[in-house]
Amino acid sequence: MSLPFSLIEAIVGGENLLRSPEELHCYSFDASKMRSVPEGVAFPADAAEISALVKLANEHRFAVYPRGSGSGMVGACLPRGGLVIVTNRLNRILEIDGDNMTAIVEPGVITGEFQKAVSKYGLFYPPDPASLAFSTIGGNVAMCSGGPRAVKYGVTRDYLLGLEMVLPTGEVIRTGTRTMKGVVGYDMTRLMAGSEGTLGIFTKIVVRLIPAPQSVRTLTAVFSSLDCAVNAICEILKARIIPSTIELMDQATICAIENHLQIGLPVQAEAMVLLEVDGPDIVLDGEVCEIERICRQAGATLTETARSQEERERLWRARRSISPALGRIRPGKINEDVTVPRTRIPELIRSIRSLARKYDLTIVCFGHAGDGNIHTNIMLDRKDENERRRAGKAVEELFAMVLGLGGTISGEHGVGIAKSPFIEQEVGAGGLEAMRRIKKALDPLNIMNPEKMFTPDRTFIEGDFV
Ligand SMILES: Cc1cc2nc3c(=O)[nH]c(=O)nc-3n(C[C@H](O)[C@H](O)[C@H](O)COP(=O)(O)OP(=O)(O)OC[C@H]3O[C@@H](n4cnc5c(N)ncnc54)[C@H](O)[C@@H]3O)c2cc1C
Repeated sequence: MSLPFSLIEAIVGGENLLRSPEELHCYSFDASKMRSVPEGVAFPADAAEISALVKLANEHRFAVYPRGSGSGMVGACLPRGGLVIVTNRLNRILEIDGDNMTAIVEPGVITGEFQKAVSKYGLFYPPDPASLAFSTIGGNVAMCSGGPRAVKYGVTRDYLLGLEMVLPTGEVIRTGTRTMKGVVGYDMTRLMAGSEGTLGIFTKIVVRLIPAPQSVRTLTAVFSSLDCAVNAICEILKARIIPSTIELMDQATICAIENHLQIGLPVQAEAMVLLEVDGPDIVLDGEVCEIERICRQAGATLTETARSQEERERLWRARRSISPALGRIRPGKINEDVTVPRTRIPELIRSIRSLARKYDLTIVCFGHAGDGNIHTNIMLDRKDENERRRAGKAVEELFAMVLGLGGTISGEHGVGIAKSPFIEQEVGAGGLEAMRRIKKALDPLNIMNPEKMFTPDRTFIEGDFV
């Protein structure tokens, strides 16, 4: 159905409503390779306007699609017709309470900007998706985003205390508390972390903060075998050292980076690990020595510790160059973010190598080894039908393999559209039905971000759009 544009305009004002094909195109994709055009895009100013839009949607039976920065990897914010509701006008940091170490922010605040703001108070908001320079806190909560620091600090849900949100029926409610403790009623806040815009639109987000670590130390270790690398990681954690980052690069990744940068990386090595520890200076020197010792004992052929900021940058350079390096292998990639218990990483990577051989594909693995989250990049040219089909089969087998290892098909990116055909394999028919019932109870008319999670929908156009 066509949107009631005059009624929408009455709520947000003509200057905050887009309708032209050129403008709508800009809101037709995210960082997945899918695209679908909305009928309209609205930029409400506050919870009251969002509530009015959602009530209108229920009355006139059109779908609404919450959207932050559109950086999602699984098509979770993609519209199919309907009205996109962008949160970027709700972009104020409302409060930073240094004494209670909490903050209240609007959902359109960019995560990296928020981190900078709290650092002025000597405080730290640790969730660190690699997209933090452009993704919003609202999007991070909806996807329960995390990054390399998860091994020590956890992910977005671990800092979330409460929310103000507009329900799919339009009422504005509050969930959670502003305190560290709080056990009154169902934990609605935790339910919302990872709800992918299907259960409500957040309008205020209450988070807890922690003191900023005093210093950081960075080191790398090179291993001739994957098992030795993972063994070293387990031993470091067992020695009661929790690094803030443990990034693993497999041989295919090392070779790709070396081809790209030519900086003398050890291309014969099966694994390279980048580690960071943070905390008080007095503790870090001892921790670094102990990590070096454990790595050597586990079979590291080389360890290197940064002694200055320049050396730290040099050690990070290889890790940060992965994306452009992969671009030289094939024009496109399917980036899966599977996660297994960390001791199963060698099995996972070996099985992925077999998959690569079986389907004649290049598959590159790297990622957050401390929490078992391995980014598995299936390189392909999307214009090559045959290669796409083989890659699709490899993804299906990868997911089955990961579940067999006791893992999850997504540690970071979520379900959206891309993974909805596979969700039942992980949560089971009963688990999925329970989720459907929650969705139906809160959104009886299926107004808010329909087609996501529950309905494998192949009508979204796929291709290399972004
Ligand atoms: C280069 C790159 C690196 C990335 N690295 C990581 C990473 O390291 N870790 C990681 O976890 N992810 C990563 N991502 C994925 C993505 O950045 C995250 O999922 C991010 O949280 C999305 O935020 P966004 O503001 O772009 O949300 P969008 O993509 O706009 O939306 C994502 C979901 O959130 C919902 N949503 C948005 N705002 C609200 C709101 N106010 N209320 C309710 N629902 C809302 C949408 O409906 C949608 O379902 C990366 C993406 C890119 C492009």
